[in-house]
Amino acid sequence: MNIAPLHSWFNVSAKTALIAGPCGAESYEQLEKTIADLSKNNIHPGYFRAGVWKPRTRPNSFEGKGEEALKWLQDLKKEHQIKTIVEVANAEHTELALKYGVDALWIGARTTGNPFSVQEIADVLKNVSVPVLIKNPIHADLQLWLGAIERISNSGITQLAAIHRGFYVYGKTKYRNKPIWQMPIELRTLLPQLPLFCDPSHIGGSVELISPIAQKALDLGFDGLMIETHFDPPQALSDAQQQVTPLQLSEILDGLICRQKTELTDYDKTILHELRNMIDDIDEDLLNLLKKRILVIEEIANYKKINNIAIFQLERWQEIIRTRAKLADKLGLNRQHVEKICQLLHEESIKHQNSIMNKPS
Ligand code: PEP
Ligand code: MN
Repeated sequence: MNIAPLHSWFNVSAKTALIAGPCGAESYEQLEKTIADLSKNNIHPGYFRAGVWKPRTRPNSFEGKGEEALKWLQDLKKEHQIKTIVEVANAEHTELALKYGVDALWIGARTTGNPFSVQEIADVLKNVSVPVLIKNPIHADLQLWLGAIERISNSGITQLAAIHRGFYVYGKTKYRNKPIWQMPIELRTLLPQLPLFCDPSHIGGSVELISPIAQKALDLGFDGLMIETHFDPPQALSDAQQQVTPLQLSEILDGLICRQKTELTDYDKTILHELRNMIDDIDEDLLNLLKKRILVIEEIANYKKINNIAIFQLERWQEIIRTRAKLADKLGLNRQHVEKICQLLHEESIKHQNSIMNKPS
Protein backbone atom coordinates (compact mmCIF):
# COMPACT_ATOMS: atom_id res chain seq x y z
CA MET A 1 0.00 0.00 0.00
CA ASN A 2 1.38 3.40 -0.97
CA ILE A 3 1.04 5.61 2.13
CA ALA A 4 2.46 9.13 2.41
CA PRO A 5 4.18 10.04 5.70
CA LEU A 6 1.95 12.10 7.98
CA HIS A 7 4.22 15.16 8.09
CA SER A 8 3.95 15.50 4.30
CA TRP A 9 0.30 16.58 4.60
CA PHE A 10 -0.36 17.33 8.25
CA ASN A 11 1.06 20.28 10.13
CA VAL A 12 1.88 18.54 13.40
CA SER A 13 1.55 21.05 16.23
CA ALA A 14 3.35 20.96 19.60
CA LYS A 15 2.80 17.51 21.12
CA THR A 16 0.76 15.59 18.64
CA ALA A 17 -1.09 15.92 15.35
CA LEU A 18 -4.44 17.44 16.27
CA ILE A 19 -7.82 17.61 14.59
CA ALA A 20 -10.25 19.72 16.61
CA GLY A 21 -13.61 21.35 16.07
CA PRO A 22 -17.25 20.84 16.88
CA CYS A 23 -19.20 17.65 16.36
CA GLY A 24 -21.43 19.44 13.88
CA ALA A 25 -21.36 22.73 11.96
CA GLU A 26 -24.43 24.48 13.38
CA SER A 27 -24.06 28.09 12.22
CA TYR A 28 -21.44 30.42 10.82
CA GLU A 29 -21.20 32.13 14.22
CA GLN A 30 -20.75 28.87 16.11
CA LEU A 31 -17.87 27.89 13.83
CA GLU A 32 -16.29 31.32 13.93
CA LYS A 33 -16.51 31.60 17.72
CA THR A 34 -15.00 28.13 18.13
CA ILE A 35 -12.14 28.98 15.75
CA ALA A 36 -11.54 32.26 17.60
CA ASP A 37 -11.50 30.54 21.02
CA LEU A 38 -9.11 27.88 19.77
CA SER A 39 -6.76 30.56 18.57
CA LYS A 40 -7.15 32.56 21.82
CA ASN A 41 -6.05 29.44 23.69
CA ASN A 42 -3.11 29.03 21.35
CA ILE A 43 -4.46 25.87 19.75
CA HIS A 44 -3.78 25.56 16.05
CA PRO A 45 -5.14 22.23 14.90
CA GLY A 46 -3.72 20.74 11.72
CA TYR A 47 -7.34 20.43 10.56
CA PHE A 48 -10.51 22.04 11.88
CA ARG A 49 -13.28 19.42 11.97
CA ALA A 50 -17.03 19.96 11.66
CA GLY A 51 -19.64 17.44 10.58
CA VAL A 52 -21.92 18.90 7.93
CA TRP A 53 -23.94 15.70 7.47
CA LYS A 54 -24.52 14.02 10.81
CA PRO A 55 -25.33 10.31 10.73
CA ARG A 56 -27.77 10.03 13.62
CA THR A 57 -28.76 6.73 15.14
CA ARG A 58 -32.35 7.87 15.65
CA PRO A 59 -34.39 10.25 13.47
CA ASN A 60 -35.54 13.71 14.55
CA SER A 61 -32.18 14.84 15.83
CA PHE A 62 -29.79 17.40 14.33
CA GLU A 63 -28.69 16.00 10.98
CA GLY A 64 -26.30 18.76 9.93
CA LYS A 65 -26.62 21.76 7.66
CA GLY A 66 -25.23 20.13 4.52
CA GLU A 67 -24.16 22.29 1.59
CA GLU A 68 -24.91 25.54 3.45
CA ALA A 69 -22.31 24.59 6.07
CA LEU A 70 -19.75 23.82 3.36
CA LYS A 71 -20.05 27.45 2.25
CA TRP A 72 -19.41 28.64 5.84
CA LEU A 73 -16.33 26.48 6.04
CA GLN A 74 -15.10 27.76 2.69
CA ASP A 75 -15.43 31.38 3.86
CA LEU A 76 -13.88 30.70 7.27
CA LYS A 77 -10.98 28.93 5.66
CA LYS A 78 -10.04 32.06 3.74
CA GLU A 79 -10.49 34.36 6.73
CA HIS A 80 -8.68 32.33 9.33
CA GLN A 81 -6.04 30.39 7.38
CA ILE A 82 -7.26 27.06 8.63
CA LYS A 83 -7.53 23.68 6.96
CA THR A 84 -10.89 21.95 7.15
CA ILE A 85 -12.04 18.36 7.36
CA VAL A 86 -15.59 17.00 7.08
CA GLU A 87 -17.22 13.59 7.20
CA VAL A 88 -18.46 12.07 3.94
CA ALA A 89 -20.81 9.10 3.77
CA ASN A 90 -21.54 8.78 0.04
CA ALA A 91 -20.52 9.92 -3.45
CA GLU A 92 -22.65 13.08 -3.35
CA HIS A 93 -21.12 14.25 -0.05
CA THR A 94 -17.66 13.63 -1.45
CA GLU A 95 -18.32 15.59 -4.66
CA LEU A 96 -19.78 18.50 -2.71
CA ALA A 97 -16.96 18.56 -0.15
CA LEU A 98 -14.40 18.69 -2.97
CA LYS A 99 -16.41 21.35 -4.83
CA TYR A 100 -16.32 23.63 -1.77
CA GLY A 101 -12.59 23.16 -1.24
CA VAL A 102 -12.65 21.11 1.95
CA ASP A 103 -9.02 20.11 2.66
CA ALA A 104 -9.49 16.59 3.98
CA LEU A 105 -12.25 14.00 4.39
CA TRP A 106 -13.04 11.48 7.05
CA ILE A 107 -15.21 8.41 6.72
CA GLY A 108 -17.41 7.81 9.75
CA ALA A 109 -17.85 4.58 11.68
CA ARG A 110 -21.28 3.84 10.22
CA THR A 111 -19.97 4.25 6.68
CA THR A 112 -16.78 2.19 7.11
CA GLY A 113 -19.04 -0.73 7.94
CA ASN A 114 -20.70 -0.49 4.52
CA PRO A 115 -18.44 -1.54 1.62
CA PHE A 116 -20.94 -0.22 -0.96
CA SER A 117 -20.72 3.31 0.44
CA VAL A 118 -16.95 3.16 0.84
CA GLN A 119 -16.56 2.01 -2.78
CA GLU A 120 -18.87 4.79 -3.95
CA ILE A 121 -16.63 7.34 -2.17
CA ALA A 122 -13.47 5.64 -3.49
CA ASP A 123 -14.82 5.91 -7.07
CA VAL A 124 -15.26 9.68 -6.72
CA LEU A 125 -11.70 9.95 -5.38
CA LYS A 126 -10.04 8.44 -8.47
CA ASN A 127 -7.58 11.03 -9.85
CA VAL A 128 -8.17 13.31 -6.82
CA SER A 129 -5.49 14.15 -4.28
CA VAL A 130 -7.00 14.70 -0.84
CA PRO A 131 -6.20 13.26 2.60
CA VAL A 132 -8.74 10.65 3.76
CA LEU A 133 -9.03 9.45 7.35
CA ILE A 134 -10.98 6.28 7.98
CA LYS A 135 -12.68 5.60 11.29
CA ASN A 136 -13.06 2.05 12.53
CA PRO A 137 -16.45 0.44 11.88
CA ILE A 138 -19.00 0.50 14.70
CA HIS A 139 -18.35 -3.12 15.62
CA ALA A 140 -14.96 -4.68 16.20
CA ASP A 141 -14.33 -6.10 12.72
CA LEU A 142 -10.72 -5.48 11.72
CA GLN A 143 -11.22 -6.88 8.22
CA LEU A 144 -13.97 -4.36 7.51
CA TRP A 145 -11.71 -1.52 8.67
CA LEU A 146 -8.83 -2.83 6.55
CA GLY A 147 -11.16 -3.32 3.60
CA ALA A 148 -12.27 0.32 3.70
CA ILE A 149 -8.64 1.48 3.89
CA GLU A 150 -7.79 -0.73 0.90
CA ARG A 151 -10.72 0.55 -1.16
CA ILE A 152 -9.64 4.18 -0.65
CA SER A 153 -6.00 3.29 -1.24
CA ASN A 154 -6.92 1.45 -4.46
CA SER A 155 -8.46 4.65 -5.80
CA GLY A 156 -4.97 6.20 -5.69
CA ILE A 157 -5.22 8.15 -2.42
CA THR A 158 -1.90 8.08 -0.56
CA GLN A 159 -2.58 10.66 2.16
CA LEU A 160 -4.30 8.13 4.35
CA ALA A 161 -4.82 7.63 8.07
CA ALA A 162 -7.00 5.55 10.36
CA ILE A 163 -9.03 6.89 13.29
CA HIS A 164 -9.75 4.71 16.29
CA ARG A 165 -13.11 5.76 17.76
CA GLY A 166 -13.98 2.64 19.78
CA PHE A 167 -16.59 -0.05 19.26
CA TYR A 168 -20.22 -0.43 20.14
CA VAL A 169 -20.95 -3.09 22.72
CA TYR A 170 -24.33 -3.99 24.12
CA GLY A 171 -25.09 -2.95 27.68
CA LYS A 172 -23.93 -0.15 29.91
CA THR A 173 -20.18 0.39 30.06
CA LYS A 174 -17.89 3.12 31.30
CA TYR A 175 -17.25 4.13 27.68
CA ARG A 176 -19.63 5.30 24.98
CA ASN A 177 -17.66 3.03 22.65
CA LYS A 178 -15.34 0.44 24.12
CA PRO A 179 -11.74 1.11 23.06
CA ILE A 180 -10.58 -2.54 22.57
CA TRP A 181 -7.01 -1.22 22.11
CA GLN A 182 -5.93 -4.56 20.67
CA MET A 183 -7.70 -3.64 17.40
CA PRO A 184 -5.72 -0.50 16.51
CA ILE A 185 -2.57 -2.29 17.71
CA GLU A 186 -3.32 -5.13 15.29
CA LEU A 187 -4.00 -2.61 12.51
CA ARG A 188 -0.61 -1.02 13.23
CA THR A 189 1.06 -4.44 13.11
CA LEU A 190 -0.49 -5.08 9.68
CA LEU A 191 0.07 -1.56 8.28
CA PRO A 192 2.96 -0.06 10.26
CA GLN A 193 3.30 2.94 7.95
CA LEU A 194 -0.37 4.01 8.27
CA PRO A 195 -0.76 7.06 10.57
CA LEU A 196 -3.11 6.32 13.44
CA PHE A 197 -5.36 8.86 15.16
CA CYS A 198 -7.46 8.38 18.28
CA ASP A 199 -10.86 10.01 18.81
CA PRO A 200 -11.24 10.07 22.61
CA SER A 201 -14.46 12.11 22.32
CA HIS A 202 -16.44 9.28 20.73
CA ILE A 203 -14.71 6.56 22.75
CA GLY A 204 -15.30 8.26 26.08
CA GLY A 205 -18.57 10.04 25.43
CA SER A 206 -17.85 12.34 28.36
CA VAL A 207 -15.53 15.23 29.11
CA GLU A 208 -13.71 13.48 32.01
CA LEU A 209 -12.65 10.49 29.93
CA ILE A 210 -11.00 12.46 27.12
CA SER A 211 -7.72 13.09 28.90
CA PRO A 212 -7.01 9.51 30.11
CA ILE A 213 -7.97 8.02 26.73
CA ALA A 214 -5.82 10.54 24.85
CA GLN A 215 -2.88 9.82 27.16
CA LYS A 216 -3.25 6.10 26.62
CA ALA A 217 -3.31 6.63 22.84
CA LEU A 218 -0.08 8.65 22.99
CA ASP A 219 1.50 6.00 25.19
CA LEU A 220 0.59 3.38 22.59
CA GLY A 221 2.32 5.39 19.87
CA PHE A 222 -0.69 6.93 18.12
CA ASP A 223 0.27 9.76 15.77
CA GLY A 224 -2.60 12.11 16.48
CA LEU A 225 -5.88 12.95 18.17
CA MET A 226 -9.30 14.05 16.96
CA ILE A 227 -11.14 15.91 19.72
CA GLU A 228 -14.56 17.58 19.59
CA THR A 229 -14.61 21.15 20.81
CA HIS A 230 -17.38 23.75 20.82
CA PHE A 231 -17.27 27.32 22.13
CA ASP A 232 -20.36 26.54 24.25
CA PRO A 233 -20.81 22.76 24.65
CA PRO A 234 -24.15 22.83 26.57
CA GLN A 235 -25.68 24.57 23.54
CA ALA A 236 -24.33 22.00 21.05
CA LEU A 237 -26.95 20.37 18.83
CA SER A 238 -25.17 17.01 18.89
CA ASP A 239 -22.80 15.25 21.31
CA ALA A 240 -23.09 18.08 23.85
CA GLN A 241 -21.94 15.89 26.76
CA GLN A 242 -18.60 15.02 25.24
CA GLN A 243 -17.54 18.34 23.70
CA VAL A 244 -15.03 20.50 25.51
CA THR A 245 -14.49 24.23 25.29
CA PRO A 246 -11.27 25.33 23.60
CA LEU A 247 -10.02 26.34 27.07
CA GLN A 248 -10.70 22.84 28.41
CA LEU A 249 -9.01 21.44 25.33
CA SER A 250 -5.91 23.49 25.99
CA GLU A 251 -5.83 22.17 29.58
CA ILE A 252 -6.19 18.60 28.29
CA LEU A 253 -3.38 19.11 25.78
CA ASP A 254 -1.13 20.76 28.38
CA GLY A 255 -1.64 17.79 30.70
CA LEU A 256 -0.69 15.19 28.12
CA ILE A 257 2.72 13.65 28.50
CA CYS A 258 4.43 12.88 25.25
CA ARG A 259 6.84 10.03 25.84
CA GLN A 260 8.68 10.42 22.61
CA LYS A 261 12.18 9.49 23.66
CA THR A 262 13.43 7.57 20.63
CA GLU A 263 17.17 7.77 21.33
CA LEU A 264 17.70 5.51 24.35
CA THR A 265 20.77 6.10 26.53
CA ASP A 266 23.11 3.20 27.34
CA TYR A 267 21.67 3.22 30.86
CA ASP A 268 18.07 2.96 29.49
CA LYS A 269 19.17 0.07 27.32
CA THR A 270 20.84 -1.82 30.18
CA ILE A 271 17.87 -1.45 32.51
CA LEU A 272 15.34 -2.47 29.84
CA HIS A 273 17.53 -5.36 28.73
CA GLU A 274 17.68 -6.73 32.28
CA LEU A 275 13.97 -6.37 32.87
CA ARG A 276 13.17 -7.93 29.49
CA ASN A 277 15.42 -10.87 30.32
CA MET A 278 13.34 -11.37 33.44
CA ILE A 279 10.16 -11.35 31.35
CA ASP A 280 11.70 -13.87 28.93
CA ASP A 281 12.45 -16.21 31.86
CA ILE A 282 8.96 -15.79 33.30
CA ASP A 283 7.39 -16.54 29.89
CA GLU A 284 9.50 -19.66 29.60
CA ASP A 285 8.30 -20.79 33.04
CA LEU A 286 4.71 -20.07 32.04
CA LEU A 287 5.02 -22.16 28.87
CA ASN A 288 6.63 -25.02 30.80
CA LEU A 289 3.72 -24.89 33.23
CA LEU A 290 1.28 -24.93 30.31
CA LYS A 291 2.99 -28.06 29.01
CA LYS A 292 2.70 -29.67 32.48
CA ARG A 293 -0.98 -28.72 32.54
CA ILE A 294 -1.58 -30.31 29.13
CA LEU A 295 0.04 -33.56 30.28
CA VAL A 296 -2.38 -33.75 33.25
CA ILE A 297 -5.29 -32.92 30.91
CA GLU A 298 -4.26 -35.88 28.75
CA GLU A 299 -4.42 -38.17 31.78
CA ILE A 300 -7.85 -36.82 32.65
CA ALA A 301 -9.03 -37.35 29.06
CA ASN A 302 -7.83 -40.95 29.02
CA TYR A 303 -9.53 -41.62 32.35
CA LYS A 304 -12.81 -40.05 31.18
CA LYS A 305 -12.67 -42.05 27.96
CA ILE A 306 -12.19 -45.40 29.70
CA ASN A 307 -14.86 -44.64 32.31
CA ASN A 308 -17.36 -43.07 29.93
CA ILE A 309 -17.40 -39.64 31.63
CA ALA A 310 -18.46 -36.52 29.66
CA ILE A 311 -15.79 -33.89 28.92
CA PHE A 312 -17.60 -30.85 30.31
CA GLN A 313 -18.40 -30.92 34.01
CA LEU A 314 -20.24 -27.75 34.97
CA GLU A 315 -19.47 -27.90 38.71
CA ARG A 316 -15.74 -28.24 38.03
CA TRP A 317 -15.77 -25.26 35.66
CA GLN A 318 -17.69 -23.16 38.19
CA GLU A 319 -15.20 -24.16 40.86
CA ILE A 320 -12.26 -23.12 38.64
CA ILE A 321 -13.76 -19.70 37.97
CA ARG A 322 -14.63 -19.15 41.64
CA THR A 323 -11.32 -20.22 43.12
CA ARG A 324 -9.18 -18.45 40.52
CA ALA A 325 -11.14 -15.21 40.95
CA LYS A 326 -10.57 -15.43 44.70
CA LEU A 327 -6.86 -16.07 44.20
CA ALA A 328 -6.67 -13.18 41.71
CA ASP A 329 -8.16 -10.86 44.35
CA LYS A 330 -5.74 -12.16 46.99
CA LEU A 331 -2.76 -11.58 44.70
CA GLY A 332 -4.00 -8.16 43.61
CA LEU A 333 -4.40 -9.27 39.99
CA ASN A 334 -7.08 -7.97 37.66
CA ARG A 335 -10.00 -10.39 38.11
CA GLN A 336 -11.35 -9.99 34.55
CA HIS A 337 -7.94 -10.63 33.10
CA VAL A 338 -7.57 -13.82 35.14
CA GLU A 339 -11.08 -14.91 34.11
CA LYS A 340 -10.16 -14.44 30.46
CA ILE A 341 -7.04 -16.55 30.90
CA CYS A 342 -9.10 -19.29 32.62
CA GLN A 343 -11.54 -19.24 29.72
CA LEU A 344 -8.73 -19.67 27.20
CA LEU A 345 -7.21 -22.50 29.23
CA HIS A 346 -10.57 -24.20 29.53
CA GLU A 347 -11.28 -23.87 25.81
CA GLU A 348 -7.93 -25.44 24.96
CA SER A 349 -8.45 -28.17 27.55
CA ILE A 350 -11.81 -29.12 26.06
CA LYS A 351 -10.37 -29.12 22.54
CA HIS A 352 -7.50 -31.33 23.64
CA GLN A 353 -9.69 -33.75 25.59
CA ASN A 354 -12.05 -33.95 22.63
CA SER A 355 -9.24 -34.86 20.26
CA ILE A 356 -8.08 -37.64 22.61
CA MET A 357 -11.51 -39.01 23.51
CA ASN A 358 -12.88 -39.00 19.99
CA LYS A 359 -9.79 -40.23 18.21
CA PRO A 360 -10.84 -43.13 16.00
CA SER A 361 -9.21 -46.24 17.43
C1 PEP B 1 -18.24 12.29 14.44
O1 PEP B 1 -16.99 12.27 14.38
O2 PEP B 1 -18.90 13.28 14.73
C2 PEP B 1 -18.96 11.02 14.24
C3 PEP B 1 -20.19 10.96 13.80
O3 PEP B 1 -18.23 9.99 14.64
P1 PEP B 1 -18.37 8.39 14.48
O4 PEP B 1 -18.45 8.12 13.01
O5 PEP B 1 -17.09 7.94 15.10
O6 PEP B 1 -19.58 7.98 15.24
MN1 MN C 1 -19.82 13.70 17.37
